[in-house]
Formats: sequence, C-alpha cells, structure tokens
Amino acid sequence: MVEKVYVTYNEVHKLCQASADRILNDFTPNLMIAIGGGGYVPARILRSFLKRPAAPNIPIQAIGLSLYEQLPSSNPSNPVETPGTKVTRTQWLDLSSLEMVNLVGKNVLIVDEVDDTRTTLEYAVKELQKDVQAAADKLGSGEKTQFSVFVLHNKDKTKKGHLPQDMMDDERYLAARTVLDVWICYPWEATDIDEHDRLAASQASY
Ligand code: 5GP
Repeated sequence: MVEKVYVTYNEVHKLCQASADRILNDFTPNLMIAIGGGGYVPARILRSFLKRPAAPNIPIQAIGLSLYEQLPSSNPSNPVETPGTKVTRTQWLDLSSLEMVNLVGKNVLIVDEVDDTRTTLEYAVKELQKDVQAAADKLGSGEKTQFSVFVLHNKDKTKKGHLPQDMMDDERYLAARTVLDVWICYPWEATDIDEHDRLAASQASY
C-alpha cells in the first residue's frame, strides 16, 4: 500500500515562505497561474511573501486541469473514465480577451501543489507557451514570456511528462520539498481538519 503523508496548513505556509526569496530573486514573477484546485492555496500564500513594499500584489490567474483516461467499454456510448494519462482543460485563460495578451513579455510563475508524474505540468507549460506565442504573434510582438514552475512537493520518481530543457537548465523549476513516492494528504482535502492535524502530528517526519 502507498504510504500516506499528512501535510498541515502551517507546513504549507512555511514551505511557501521558505521558497519565496528564491522565487523573488531568480524568477521575479509578474504574474502567477495557479493550477486548480491544488495550486490555489499555495499561490495565495506565496503572494503575501512575494509582495514588495509599495508594489502592487502579484496577480493570480487560475486554470483547471484534470487527468483522465478513456478505457474501452462494452458500451461505446458510455466510456469508462479513470485517472490516467490524458489531461483535459476544465478551465483555461480566455484567449479572446486580455488574459492571454497580458502574459506576453512577462515572467509567469505556474503554481501547483504536487509534481507526481509531471503529466499535468508538461501540459500546462506546453499549452500556455503555445497560446502566449499565438497572442504575441497576433500583437506583432517579439517579446518573450518566461515561464517558471513552483510546487510544494516533487515526488522523486521516473516522470512521464517533461518540462522544457531550458527551464530545467536555467533552474526555473522549484520544488519546496522532494519526497519519496508517497501519497500526500493536503489540508484543503480534509473533511475533518482536527483529525488531519492529529494524523500529521503523529506521523514520523517524511
Ligand atoms: P501529475 O501526475 O500530472 O504530476 O499530477 C496530477 C495531479 O494528481 C496533481 O496535480 C494532483 O492534483 C494529483 N496528485 C498526484 N499525486 C498526489 C498526491 O500525492 N496527493 C494528492 N492529494 N494529489 C496528488
């Protein structure tokens, strides 16, 4: 059975805090894109630590992605869906409005809670790069958008998805913690937060 690890709100807060200087100095983001739902809370916490005196808050935009796989079914009109290898958009930036144009020439930090197989992050980076390039072409702008990635946890395992080589070479990927291939229980998923915190307190450090 996969080992479960319980992470508290307090720990999430401190993981964001511990990563903020590096993000501010190395990535200098103008904007964050939170991958829903796990990226929302870390992005909001990070925003407080990334705030510079007299500067406005860094805006957060949201996209929703879900991993699914359609398995063959005896009834073709009723395909079976299970967690898998194909990513679908449940929410995306509005390509026709200013949302995508706003990314042109910016430093954009993509935020998610966990990098497991990396399938979701690969999709997010590739698709955002493609759509921003289309927006830049439409504007006739040669300005480049630089994407970086922040996750709370990276699982140390063979990845199915890949991030752009220049992102890895330039160290524009940051995981606050690298963990074994465990199942991480985040506090926002808990239905009983006191029990969640009790389990977190009673577990060995991971
Ligand atoms: P990927 O395999 O594409 O890196 O991760 C896909 C998604 O699966 C993540 O964004 C996250 O929502 C979910 N996921 C993967 N591993 C874990 C985990 O250990 N705990 C939780 N709560 N979600 C996970």
